[in-house]
Amino acid sequence: MSCPICGKAAEAKYRPFCSRRCADIDLGRWLKGDYVIPGKALEEEESAPDDDLPPRPPRPQ
Ligand SMILES: [Zn+2]
Repeated sequence: MSCPICGKAAEAKYRPFCSRRCADIDLGRWLKGDYVIPGKALEEEESAPDDDLPPRPPRPQ
């Protein structure tokens, strides 16, 4: 298997990447939204901890 970032041979410790650096690059792409997965991005945004803000109270009817 080769590193999906640079194409070098993958290191077992960093599979499927060749190094920590490439793993970080891949993670960075995820965080920046280069990999777009419809539906999932929204889900993650909603469940992400937002500092120490309390959850929004439900709207009164
Ligand atoms: Zn690599």
